[in-house]
Amino acid sequence: MRETILIKNGEIALKGLNRKNFEDALVKNIRDRIYDLGEFKYIKSQSTVMVEPLSPGIDLDEAFERLKKVFGIAALSRAVACEKDMNEILHYTCVFLKDSLMAAKTFKVEAKRSDKKFPLKSPEISAETGAKILEEFPHLTVDVHNPDIIVMVEIRDREAFIHGEQVKGAGGIPVGTGGKAMLLISGGIDSPVAGYMIAKRGISITAVHFASPPYTSELAEQKVHRLLKKVSEYSGRIKLYTVPFTELQEAIRAHCPEELFTLVMRRLMMKISCVLAEKEDCKALVTGESLGQVASQTLGALQCTDDASVLPVLRPLIGMDKDEIVTISRKIETFDISIEPFEDCCTVFTPRHPRLKPDLKRVIQAEEKVLSAFPEDILIKTAEASKVLEIG
Ligand code: ATP
Ligand code: MG
Repeated sequence: MRETILIKNGEIALKGLNRKNFEDALVKNIRDRIYDLGEFKYIKSQSTVMVEPLSPGIDLDEAFERLKKVFGIAALSRAVACEKDMNEILHYTCVFLKDSLMAAKTFKVEAKRSDKKFPLKSPEISAETGAKILEEFPHLTVDVHNPDIIVMVEIRDREAFIHGEQVKGAGGIPVGTGGKAMLLISGGIDSPVAGYMIAKRGISITAVHFASPPYTSELAEQKVHRLLKKVSEYSGRIKLYTVPFTELQEAIRAHCPEELFTLVMRRLMMKISCVLAEKEDCKALVTGESLGQVASQTLGALQCTDDASVLPVLRPLIGMDKDEIVTISRKIETFDISIEPFEDCCTVFTPRHPRLKPDLKRVIQAEEKVLSAFPEDILIKTAEASKVLEIG
C-alpha cells in the first residue's frame, strides 16, 4: 500500500503570476521540515502537493504532525495512492480506511474526478465505492448530511487517491516569500506570538534578544532559545542574536530619570536592532507590543519607540486582548515556557512610576545623556558583540 500525504495549497492559489514562486517556496519549506525523517518524493499538481515516502520505515505520523505547522497549507490528509482502476480503488478504500470505518456508524463517499477520461463519472464512483463499503462493513449506514466519516476518492491525472478525514492546515502564506523581519524576543508571552503571526504572513524571521547578565541569568537566555524552537516549528530556522545589554542598562540607571528608564531602554533596543536588521537585510522590526497593555505601550510610548527606529515596526498584537494572545500562545505551545519565572532585562530595571504620557523631546534628551557616557559607535559595537545562534 503506497501511503502519501496530500497537501492542499491555501492562499497561494490566489497569487496569480506569483503562484509558481509561492508553490516552489511551499515545497521547499515542506522539504526543510521533514527531510531528516527520510527520503520523500514531492509532486506538485492541481493546487496540491503530494508527499510520498521513498525510504521504508518513515515515520509518517511525525511527518504529518510537522506539516500541520507549515504555512501556506489550507488542508492536508493522509491518503493512499493507487492505480486509476475501480477494483484497486475499492480494495484500497476498505484496507486503508478499515479502522476509521470500523469505528464509524455512518459514512458518505465523495468522489472528485479531475481526469475526465476516467470511464466513471463522480456520482458513479461514489455509488460503487459506497456499495462496496456497505458490503464489507455491514454495520455502517449512509448519511449524506452528517456522516461520522467522509470517504474521499480523487481521480487525478496520474493516479487515484483515497483518504478519510482532511485536517485543517496552518493557513497563511509560505514563509520566505515576503522577505525577512527582525523579531525582538523577550522571555514573555507576547513576542513569540508576534513572531508566529508575522511568519504566518510569509515573512521569515531573524531574532534579537537583549540580555543583561548578571542581572539576567543564563537560564533566561535558554528560555528564549526554547521559545524560538517552538516558533521555528512554524517559521522554519531562526537566527538569533543575543545582545550584551548590561553596560547600557547600567548607564540608563545612572543617567536617566527613573520614570524614563523603560522608554530609553526601548529606544536603544530599537536602534541596536536596526543595526542588526540592516546587516541581515531585514525590512522591518517586529515586537509583541499591544496597545495599552503596560505603561510602555501607551500611544505616546509607542511614538517614542517608533521614533528610534529607521525601519517600520510591525506590531501584530497591537489590537489584541491578553486572553486572545494567550490562546495563540497555548496553541503554539509557547505559553508554558513563557510563564516560567526568569528575570528579563525589562523587569530588572522597571521604574516604580513609569511615564504614561512621555514627552518625546525629554526622552531623546535622556537618551543623549546616556549615550554621551560612551564612545560614539557604542550601539554598533554592542550590536557587533552579539552572540549568534541558529535555532530550529
Ligand atoms: P513580552 O510578553 O513579549 O515580553 P510584554 O507585554 O512583556 O511583551 P514588554 O516587556 O514591555 O512587553 O516588551 C514589549 C516588547 O519589547 C516585547 O514584546 C518584545 O518585542 C520587546 N522586548 C522586551 N524585552 C526584550 C528583550 N529583553 N529582548 C528583546 N526584545 C525585548
Ligand atoms: Mg516582557
